[in-house]
Amino acid sequence: MSTKFIFVTGGVVSSLGKGLAAASLGTLLECRGLKVGLQKLDPYLNVDPGTMNPFQHGEVYVLNDGAETDLDLGHYERFTHTVLSRSNSTSSGQVYETVLARERRGDYLGKTVQVIPHVTDEIKARIRKVVAEQPCDILISEIGGTTGDIEGLPFLEAIRQFVLEVGPQNVVIVHVTLVPYIRAAGELKTKPSQQSIAKLREIGLHPQVLICRTELPLGDDVRQKLSVFCNVPLDAVIEARDVDHSIYEMPLMLKREKLDETVCRLLQIQTKPADTTDWSRFVERVVKPKKRVKIAVVGKYIELQDAYKSIYESLTHAAASLDCGTDLLLVDAEELEEKDPAPVLRDVAGILVPGGFGDRGVEGKIRATQYAREQHVPFLGLCLGMQVASIEFARNVCGLAGANSTEFDPHPPYAIIDLLETQKEITGKGASMRLGTWPTKIQAGTLAHAVYQSSEITERHRHRYEFNQKYRQQMEDNGFVISGTSPDGTLVELIELRDHPWFLACQYHPEFQSKPNSPHPLFKGFVGACLAHGI
Ligand code: GLN
Repeated sequence: MSTKFIFVTGGVVSSLGKGLAAASLGTLLECRGLKVGLQKLDPYLNVDPGTMNPFQHGEVYVLNDGAETDLDLGHYERFTHTVLSRSNSTSSGQVYETVLARERRGDYLGKTVQVIPHVTDEIKARIRKVVAEQPCDILISEIGGTTGDIEGLPFLEAIRQFVLEVGPQNVVIVHVTLVPYIRAAGELKTKPSQQSIAKLREIGLHPQVLICRTELPLGDDVRQKLSVFCNVPLDAVIEARDVDHSIYEMPLMLKREKLDETVCRLLQIQTKPADTTDWSRFVERVVKPKKRVKIAVVGKYIELQDAYKSIYESLTHAAASLDCGTDLLLVDAEELEEKDPAPVLRDVAGILVPGGFGDRGVEGKIRATQYAREQHVPFLGLCLGMQVASIEFARNVCGLAGANSTEFDPHPPYAIIDLLETQKEITGKGASMRLGTWPTKIQAGTLAHAVYQSSEITERHRHRYEFNQKYRQQMEDNGFVISGTSPDGTLVELIELRDHPWFLACQYHPEFQSKPNSPHPLFKGFVGACLAHGI
């Protein structure tokens, strides 16, 4: 079968969960036995989100090849079996960068370079590239932003041309829209959806499926209206109510609405019905856990739900595998800078310190880490979390007063965390970190080895600074254990403490490799230790 294409657009407002809808459709199509590919087309001009503030953009999701991408790619990898690469994430910035580089080389042979055809050709080439590199039965391409955005137009025009090129029978356009409830009228309103569909029609795109985000059930009359005014078959009006408990319910909800069936019919694909048994079992464990455990996440961006997305999801996966639910206590690290952390952290069964940049809140993270070490509370440190754990140990156990990372103090008395000599000349910020998958060798007989059950692992990285080996001996003599390093031994990847029941921290980001039915060993080990610790 040659590849079929699904384009997912969004209308009315942003934050409709388009990425989750695309990922959930991917889940259902995989459950039908199809090979699915997923791609994000982002209209913003940043080349990648690597330089964006998490407050603006949420988490930066890192792929195996080191691409720094939108958090929707995290949904894609968690909801399906796809392993994504740089090609699966395209922004206008990248498209223009390519086109302009070509122009400078003289590849356009004196022609005027224009949005149509040069930019649109590049967009289409990037859709085709995914299929060439990752052959699949169906490629789902999600277009970021909202219909009507100026930046989105070249993408929509490219899709219009693409539909003509591959044939309309091979494409389905799914439009995710909002059907708001107006309390004063006591009614669900279809007009915003009609208008955003009209906008697409102006451009020459004809969505065949509507995924309607709604607080209330749609009702036959509303479905009928949407079908007629938006020109989609009645069974292609899909109700997507806000899920009660977990985002992982979304594929099951869309299956009840027969989304996968409708899409397959429109694409003329015959498959078995979607077998969602494993997925349902996972959801059941997430929704109705037998026990609960309280875990503190001490971070800088805790008020923003999306900033530590993959970490929260990884905790959910790990907890579900242990038939427990997590109650997260989100602690603003800055608050702990002044305060004694004990009253805040007294009733948690585990403490997690996530990654981060810049010095805001670092001292608070150090205090939370000290509390975990001294009180023997299970501790998991991720990236900056490992750096913080190293600084804390150096200061408070090895007596190296003022120990710090050169990220926060350019000339500390003891630079426990520092740049490598080779990195000191790098001045640009974009894609200049240690990024993507790197191997780690794990020492036998360590907690890390027991958790991973392996001596060789690969994990995704995104950081600049490294543990300074100059202090290794002194730290180890005091009970600091370096349980994982790069294969040549030069870079420290995993640390733990000799005199602590469960204290692990890593220089990488395990949260990018956890999936619903295969939780990451570090998170599973951590949640297991929290359960054992109890409260
Ligand atoms: N800021 C630290 C570094 O660059 C940690 C980065 C992170 O936590 N992702 O090394």
